[in-house]
Amino acid sequence: PIQPREKLDAVDSVCPYCGVGCALTYYVDRERGAIAFAEGRDQPGSQSRLCVKGRYGWDYAASPQRLTMPLIRIDSAYPKSALSADVRGEGKGSATGATNDRGRGGDGGNRSGGGRKDDPGGKRGGGRKPGGLVDYDEVLPYFREATWEEALDLIARRLKEIHAEGGPGAIAGFGSAKCSNEEAYLFQKLIRTGFGTNNVDHCTRLCHASSVAALFEGVGSGAVSTTYGDVANADVVIITGSNPTANHPVASSFFKQARRRGTKIIYVDPRASTVAEHADIFVQLKPGTDVAFYNSVMHEVIRLGLIDREFIAGRTSNYDELARTVADYPPERAAQITGVDADLIREVARTWGEANAGVVYWGMGISQHTTGTDNARCLIALCSITGNVGRPGTGLHPLRGQNNVQGASDAGLVPMFYPDYQGVDREATRRHFEEAWGTTLDPNRGLTVTEIIKSVLQPGGVRGMYMLGENPFLSDPNINKVRKALSALDFLVVQDIFLTETAEFADVILPATSYLEKDGTYTNTDRRVQLGRKVMDPPGQARPDWEIVQDIARGIGLDWNYESPSEVFDEMVALMPSYKNLAYDNLGLSGKLYPNDDPEHTDGTVVMFDEKFNTDDGLAHLVPAQWLPPRELPDSEFPLVLNTGRLLEHWHTGSMTRRSYALDAISPVAEVYMHPKDAADRGLAHGEMVRARSRRGAIELLVRISHREQLGNCFIPFHFREAAANLLTIDEVDPTGKIPEFKFCAVQVEALGAA
Ligand code: SF4
Repeated sequence: PIQPREKLDAVDSVCPYCGVGCALTYYVDRERGAIAFAEGRDQPGSQSRLCVKGRYGWDYAASPQRLTMPLIRIDSAYPKSALSADVRGEGKGSATGATNDRGRGGDGGNRSGGGRKDDPGGKRGGGRKPGGLVDYDEVLPYFREATWEEALDLIARRLKEIHAEGGPGAIAGFGSAKCSNEEAYLFQKLIRTGFGTNNVDHCTRLCHASSVAALFEGVGSGAVSTTYGDVANADVVIITGSNPTANHPVASSFFKQARRRGTKIIYVDPRASTVAEHADIFVQLKPGTDVAFYNSVMHEVIRLGLIDREFIAGRTSNYDELARTVADYPPERAAQITGVDADLIREVARTWGEANAGVVYWGMGISQHTTGTDNARCLIALCSITGNVGRPGTGLHPLRGQNNVQGASDAGLVPMFYPDYQGVDREATRRHFEEAWGTTLDPNRGLTVTEIIKSVLQPGGVRGMYMLGENPFLSDPNINKVRKALSALDFLVVQDIFLTETAEFADVILPATSYLEKDGTYTNTDRRVQLGRKVMDPPGQARPDWEIVQDIARGIGLDWNYESPSEVFDEMVALMPSYKNLAYDNLGLSGKLYPNDDPEHTDGTVVMFDEKFNTDDGLAHLVPAQWLPPRELPDSEFPLVLNTGRLLEHWHTGSMTRRSYALDAISPVAEVYMHPKDAADRGLAHGEMVRARSRRGAIELLVRISHREQLGNCFIPFHFREAAANLLTIDEVDPTGKIPEFKFCAVQVEALGAA
């Protein structure tokens, strides 16, 4: 029976999905040991709103498929190279879930500790068997249960051996933007101080690394300059390369609300997502042409005299070179590149330039290109030359993807920065951290996520990896190459809450806690640091990630004695000027924005750079960019452009949302979204199974006829193992941000019977 609200235990926490970080309260039925429901809670950034993921996407934590015991691979009985044939598109998989028999994970309870032994049939959580996830029956026989002591001893011994044989460069770690700030901080500290390497990174490399690189170069800070709520003070906003209705739903509600109160929305995107219906101006440009478009907008802003000369003179550098570059992009030329009518480019320039206050919000349609850094440079320049930074209703806001991608980056989970973006290659900074951490540190930048994968396949490269909460086998580009790399590792530790596709390749699998089962801080896209509170106990022998990281640190000889996440947070804050003054006991129920001079009495700083930028000279550095085409253009064999991304109901590689009953029920299958004419030209009907293929692989999935796609373009979400979009994508990267071009590669979509 459902208990009345007053009999339920209310725990205030934060949504674990997107970077909006909505505040919520879980109502827990302690008698049943289960969450009864979740409700939005008042906080400046979410105002009691939740989207479908926050409201219904928490039951995955009670899945019978949770890992509950450490697992050790049984010698070589499990040939890694033979793994995941279905993900390679060579198996029996289909996107419908009806023609395969995977997803029998509840049965894992009979096996080596993969599921709950008291629930061998997987009936808990509705008894529903999720389709398309790792087949526990296939994988678990190759592992055996182990004690924590045995697993930790093995990890310490093997990582130390590989380090001794191959040196610091033989070890690498992938942390997670799903973990707390404290866990991210400890993980990077372990890799840096325990193994003497900066080979530590996380999925920020795959979402906004190029934005951060451009922001750091341009304004001296990788964080947003204003909040999404500041849209209320803007006369006009540009939302570009983003589908916030699906990816940042509550932020999107602020945008729509602002428009009803008079803020103009300019929406620039290759896809006509639902935001287009709320826009005053919709610009459907060709994918991969952002630099040409924004250079042309700047060309027009300058020609019309709509620049802020005082701001340019006093607050920026390199304007003349920027002006010379954009002079080559009159609207007529840009129209040929972008496919956007020249008059529409002029209208955007006039609307933006005549406004008193404007913010640019951007997503991964800007960052996930081989020109991602250049794309973001253009946005920074456009805001700067029109004086749209440093005042209410103005600024730069890359909408961060994961719930804690901002915090994990802040905490130093990147190969080029210690906590708070302090460069590892600056000697004084390194000395400072050497003193704080009591050891010598690597003076060189480490390898990024994509470079680590490449390194594994090279002689003298990475041999041993510690993977905490990341699933690169589905999230990284060109996953056939990822599979080869994971197979080639001498030793892989995976710490996660489920048997992920990546865990299949592990030598040791450690059962971690979900965010519902631990305390920790998380930093949202607005720079809001919030406390996530423990709601329930973890299953079986699963343990909090920070405790596991500490045990591995001790195993390799580090003298770590943290007793709580708050103690870790205090150490972080002492090393991070941006987080100065923050502490567990002053974050309150709403969290606090950083920087914050007085967290006891204020919410923190909304608008950054009101007087100067964080660069060495205090100026915004304008960096001009020339348009370059994407790396793999369509041709007669692969005539369509593939764009990949997320759906409202799912999150990344689906390990959480596909185990959430309501979310999976709403969106259970993979689909390729196609323009009606592209489908008709191929004789494809809505709902038909088709094959999508590129030079790197092929997948089978359903076709969805969609008026939101441009002719010649298609879209595939990357959540679905059984139709893994990243089998198709290319692993070419932006030269500065090292981010892959997830938003552009050449594919063909055809009927299943086609050759
Ligand atoms: Fe969670 Fe993001 Fe939805 Fe808010 S908008 S409820 S943080 S997924």
